[in-house]
Amino acid sequence: MNSNYNKIQNELNLIGANSLINESMSKHTTFGIGGPVDLLILPTDNSQILDIINIINTHNIEFYFLGSGSNILVTDSGIRGAVISLKKSSKKIIFNDSTVFVECGVMLGTLVKQLNHRNITGFESLMGVPGTVGGALMMNAGAFGSEISNNLLSVSAIEQNGNIKKYSIRDIDFSYRNSDFSNNEILIDALFKCTRGNKKVIENKKYSASKLRKENQPLKYRSAGSIFKNPSNMAAGYLIDQAGLKGKKIGGAEISNKHANFILNIDNAKCNDVMELIKIISNKIYTLYNIKLELEIKIIGEFSDELH
Ligand SMILES: Cc1cc2nc3c(=O)[nH]c(=O)nc-3n(C[C@H](O)[C@H](O)[C@H](O)COP(=O)(O)OP(=O)(O)OC[C@H]3O[C@@H](n4cnc5c(N)ncnc54)[C@H](O)[C@@H]3O)c2cc1C
Repeated sequence: MNSNYNKIQNELNLIGANSLINESMSKHTTFGIGGPVDLLILPTDNSQILDIINIINTHNIEFYFLGSGSNILVTDSGIRGAVISLKKSSKKIIFNDSTVFVECGVMLGTLVKQLNHRNITGFESLMGVPGTVGGALMMNAGAFGSEISNNLLSVSAIEQNGNIKKYSIRDIDFSYRNSDFSNNEILIDALFKCTRGNKKVIENKKYSASKLRKENQPLKYRSAGSIFKNPSNMAAGYLIDQAGLKGKKIGGAEISNKHANFILNIDNAKCNDVMELIKIISNKIYTLYNIKLELEIKIIGEFSDELH
């Protein structure tokens, strides 16, 4: 590990940003899996981000951006360089007549609750999707027919070189669980359109989304949600189930018996266990159906030779 990390941490302290050296990523992912990151940076305010980027650039260290780690599998060797996450800060939500301004560290669930409380419609089916607003925008998170991008007006971001960017919705290409924001920028805040709806209808939609989620998803165990994207007009979970892979275990990881597109951390699973199951699923689905499944989760970190 680069011996400069203590020096960088001192510089981060001076601007008021929190940081942790050699921090296990298993504590920062919903999977509960992952080796250490050299430096985890948790700004306490969005105003620190430019300074943080400058400090890291000065020390010539690679860095990545993360939300709350609910769509991430971190390798067992961990991440060399720094990770910046807004999950502990960046919590402003400001309502106006017909818009809401949201900082990207706000948890999506918190935003949805506040919108529902004000009878604003279009977000209610997203109730229960874990993660931050930044992660949701990056992934174009969605559930039961609605997506976070549906009511988006604009987004602010900072690039790795410190440039500040402002996107209008027309500048961004959103598709199923995907956006074309660059991996080299951190999303800072977003503006959404607010449309008033009927309280009863909103409540019902929210209730049925939560009910379906509880009925269909294995929420008792740690996971990163759906592992694969659904291929067109088909559910990846259905294919994996038909392939007879439900319940298949490697080490501490298991393909869920409840929802076959979920891999669960049932007993101190390693990234390698999950990767093995991913390989088994991908190969079998290709052999049986000639379909190449695409990963929905993002895998980050240093790979051992074996995994390459
Ligand atoms: C039990 C469970 C159920 C789930 N159900 C759903 C579902 O119904 N629908 C759905 O769409 N997803 C679902 N997911 C997946 C996950 O919740 C979403 O993808 C979520 O939007 C990720 O948000 P996050 O903050 O955790 O992002 P992370 O997992 O931390 O990051 C995801 C990606 O976004 C990038 N990123 C995050 N924040 C920023 C930022 N501020 N700036 C730049 N890049 C950033 C990261 O680099 C990474 O590439 C589920 C996950 C779990 C564990």
